[in-house]
Amino acid sequence: MEELLRRSEKLTTVGQLAAGVAHEIRNPLTTLRGFLQLQQESKKLTLTHVSLMLSELDRINLIVGEFLILAKPQATRFVTKDVRDVLQDVIALMNSEAILHNIEFRVSFTDDSCRISCEENQLKQVFINLLKNAIEAMPSGGFIHIHITCRREHISISITDEGEGIPDEIIPNIGDPFFTGKETGTGLGIMVSQRIINSHKGTMDIKSQVNVGTTVNIMLPALKESGERERLEA
Ligand code: ADP
Ligand code: MG
Repeated sequence: MEELLRRSEKLTTVGQLAAGVAHEIRNPLTTLRGFLQLQQESKKLTLTHVSLMLSELDRINLIVGEFLILAKPQATRFVTKDVRDVLQDVIALMNSEAILHNIEFRVSFTDDSCRISCEENQLKQVFINLLKNAIEAMPSGGFIHIHITCRREHISISITDEGEGIPDEIIPNIGDPFFTGKETGTGLGIMVSQRIINSHKGTMDIKSQVNVGTTVNIMLPALKESGERERLEA
């Protein structure tokens, strides 16, 4: 019964999302069609038209790409991982991007084990999305503080930037599909991240102050078994 409910809930949101995707993709497609029609009728396509067509195609590709992350082509595989390792991998991946924008990552970890059960690539995607947002919010550079605290029950990860912040009145809209405050944003990053965290039985919340910065806090259930076993065996 629960499974059935979960599935039907999934289907409604999928339906809503599909409507959004259709809408977001139709706009660039209309532009593309218009230009091609112009070419067919009068052969007057200029280089400006062509570069606009390319950027419309890139946009479609970006939107489809973000959705593929959720589509999970292979069966999801949950493995035991230390969150510190997953985050370190992502930080290494994003470091050159940060340096390019005069941004430095400041990382602090607790010494306790931070083992969780996770779909590694999806969790990485969450950290990539959040660090990207943090970088994009800091056009004049600064620090991004990443802090992980690991306790018996929960693992808490916080990412704090010194960026432009989010005005109170739009906070409730953050995470709505296609809600973006950026000219070339897709408005899918937070929604995708939220869904991935939910599928890991975790929570994600955002606190922000305009011109001070934004903190995203993620809580995930800690994996306890092996610690318990070690204690029993000792
Ligand atoms: P996108 O980045 O494509 O706009 P997201 O879902 O990642 O989509 O983010 C939605 C919106 O939330 C952003 O456009 C931005 O307005 C706001 N936002 C998210 N993270 C931050 C942040 N760290 N600082 C300031 N604004 C943010
Ligand atoms: Mg984003």
